[in-house]
Amino acid sequence: MNTTNKRLLTGLQPSGDLHIGNYFGALKPYVDTYEQYESFIMVADYHALTSVQNPEILRSNIHNVVRDYLAAGVDPAKCVIFRQSDNQDHTELGWILNCMVTVPFLMQAHAYKDKVANGIEPSAGLFAYPMLQAADIVLYETDFVPAGEDQRQHIEYTREAAGKFNRAYGEVLKEPKEMILDGVGVVPGTDGRKMSKSYKNTIPLFGTPEEVEKAVKSIVTDSASDKPEHVYAIHSLLKSSSELDSLYEENKGHYGDLKKLLVEDLNTFLQPMRERRQQITDEDVRQVLKDGAKRAKEVSNKTLANVRLAIGID
Ligand code: AMP
Repeated sequence: MNTTNKRLLTGLQPSGDLHIGNYFGALKPYVDTYEQYESFIMVADYHALTSVQNPEILRSNIHNVVRDYLAAGVDPAKCVIFRQSDNQDHTELGWILNCMVTVPFLMQAHAYKDKVANGIEPSAGLFAYPMLQAADIVLYETDFVPAGEDQRQHIEYTREAAGKFNRAYGEVLKEPKEMILDGVGVVPGTDGRKMSKSYKNTIPLFGTPEEVEKAVKSIVTDSASDKPEHVYAIHSLLKSSSELDSLYEENKGHYGDLKKLLVEDLNTFLQPMRERRQQITDEDVRQVLKDGAKRAKEVSNKTLANVRLAIGID
């Protein structure tokens, strides 16, 4: 398939340190494929406002996420790296799409329901989040969105909102498809639930070797079973099942040794990215975002102009 004229977009929230679930679920699928497309990667800082309401922390998280993208291998010469809040087209189209969908429809969103069930304040922003995300995606006429399984419904919501807009006003918005890879759609955390900042069960992507070791040591194991399933599940992100099966057979019942092997493999895998990250300066980050904002707007302005014309506010 010739994909050079297809668009790819993903985004991560600057809501704290990235973990290996973010990396294997969204960032790595992006890094592995983005050169084949016309690609965009966003720092979703308006989304992060639903959980981070401290200006110093948000500012520093934004900076850190850009460094993380660069360290993970995203080359700004080959794609557009930009910050959502640098481009007001997102909030404008987000509002317009909010007017396309109903409250009962948004109330079905699993991510919203899970967050509220976990004690997160149900702000109006959290509730409307899927329509801001829909705007993020359709503004760039995105074809594919690499993401974890938790985003499947949000991407369906994007298609739903774009479809409703198109039925009302004519074919203006492109309906995207999710790119969710087998085996990494839900990376488990140290307690076996989905790895998530809000569950405090993460293995940091850019932690020190000691932090990685501490997190791995805390992986919950079931003493009644021969194979520590959560250790194995995380290990399978790094090694094939044939390599792992013999390793886990040789070390049957020795959970401590298996965790040590996982720590070694994780640190070997993460070390080159950690080293790359140290080379990235604040000035590099500023330059990338400045350039990215300009390039993002060149594309999104066109979509928004078509939307405005279609709805009668041109
Ligand atoms: P967030 O910034 O929390 O919205 O997540 C950014 C990206 O990471 C999204 O595409 C998520 O689907 C993905 N992601 C987050 N946690 C996991 C996980 N445990 N397993 C797989 N993907 C994940």
